[in-house]
Amino acid sequence: TTDKSTEKDVTLVGAGLAGCLLATLLGRRGYQVTVLERRSDPRLAGAERGRSINLALSARGLDALERVGLREDALAAALPMRGRMVHPLGASPNFQSYSADGTRAINSISRSGLNEALLETAEKTPGVTVLFESRVEAVDLDRGIVTVARPDGVQERAASIVLACDGAYSATRRAVQFREGANYAQDFLEHGYKELTIPARDGDFAVDPGALHIWARGGSMMIALPNLDKSFTCTLFWPKEGPGGLASLTTPEAVRAHFQREYPDVVDLMPTLVEDYLINPVGSLVTVRAWPWTAHGARASVALVGDAAHAIVPFYGQGANCAFEDAIEIDALLEKHDGDWSRVLPAYEAARKPNTDAIAEMALQNFVEMRDLVNSRVHRTKNTIVHALERWLPSLVVSRYELVSFSTVPYAEVLRRSRLQSRVLSGAAAAGVVGVVGAAVKVLRRR
Ligand code: FAD
Repeated sequence: TTDKSTEKDVTLVGAGLAGCLLATLLGRRGYQVTVLERRSDPRLAGAERGRSINLALSARGLDALERVGLREDALAAALPMRGRMVHPLGASPNFQSYSADGTRAINSISRSGLNEALLETAEKTPGVTVLFESRVEAVDLDRGIVTVARPDGVQERAASIVLACDGAYSATRRAVQFREGANYAQDFLEHGYKELTIPARDGDFAVDPGALHIWARGGSMMIALPNLDKSFTCTLFWPKEGPGGLASLTTPEAVRAHFQREYPDVVDLMPTLVEDYLINPVGSLVTVRAWPWTAHGARASVALVGDAAHAIVPFYGQGANCAFEDAIEIDALLEKHDGDWSRVLPAYEAARKPNTDAIAEMALQNFVEMRDLVNSRVHRTKNTIVHALERWLPSLVVSRYELVSFSTVPYAEVLRRSRLQSRVLSGAAAAGVVGVVGAAVKVLRRR
């Protein structure tokens, strides 16, 4: 058995968002980091069709980027969205602010652009080497070997600390998930997603760029986020199969007719609708739950990071924000435990798991809110009351959305506080307005 507890050579799988951030943080600590990335260099290759994905980047992501000097660059490449613009069928759009004071925003940013900025930062960091076209196929923890497929053949590389940042469909995860005692579940929604485009119109945004647009239609929805080039990336979240499902529209006429009926206020803003719809791929939406996140053999240890450990559905706009938090946690624990991996890895999974479970749950709940509730008057009134209470009693009442998106309060704590708040508010609503405040103050002071 080799002593891997203070190992300074790290093998990191996946140069995605979490991988590049973590590689940079480790390089700065003096680690030698080899990053193995399946894809070719994205700066040379260009984006996949229909997978442009723009992310909502919020407080947690910005806090992480600040630590590697990228916060300002990211904000400069992003567009702030201060609320939702809800487009009901047959009525005018209405704007619902995300924060009580109306000023706070989540930021629409291109995922590939952000990934490239992080990649460049990682590559510039002494000690970090990124190897593209290097697909990890297997990890043998007892032999301390990572098997990598490269264009020139399959290689075996020695490794003792392996950090799996290879995303929702992680191959490295097999080294953890197929061990005795390991629990693993992947839950796919019956909904898939497909991207469409609203291009710039007369050189300007075709709809308001200061909001995240939602066309909530009960069982399904479309959203649109603005891009710097004044276009919008629209994403359909529809059931994959069945009537009204993504697979049900197979001809140009059917596509056009469906959009005329369901999204009449934007259909004319989408000149490439039919082509985009018929050609762009359908993506899946999966929640991954794994435990443990680490495994240890005679010669190597592996830990899952980011989507590889806890892919979530995108409805809270938190997957990347949350993956960045993992990297920050590992970095902080290396400091705390003086680089001792045998203490860092267990502490990392223990600290993060309750939080990633909480955001996984909140993300699933938010799908219902986005596709159904945003249109309901009761829901809107409740939000207005919460925002009013937030302004009135800012130290006591903060909405779940604000805590998730505009704070770095751990997700598990957000879930606990927001459940309590919601119980108090619903109970008190029955007792009238005076009761609302009295009860809220009493319970929340005790919190
Ligand atoms: P990834 O970014 O997926 O990176 C994994 C990397 O590993 C990739 O570069 C991949 O090529 C590489 N890789 C995979 N397998 C191997 C292998 N075997 N060997 C070597 N390399 C490999 N998050 C937000 O915060 N806000 C949002 O608004 C948001 N919206 C989203 C919308 C959609 C439609 C989707 C699908 C996701 C969204 N997300 C959002 C989630 C976000 O994209 C992910 O949570 C984030 O990318 C996870 O980062 P990661 O580094 O863990 O994984």
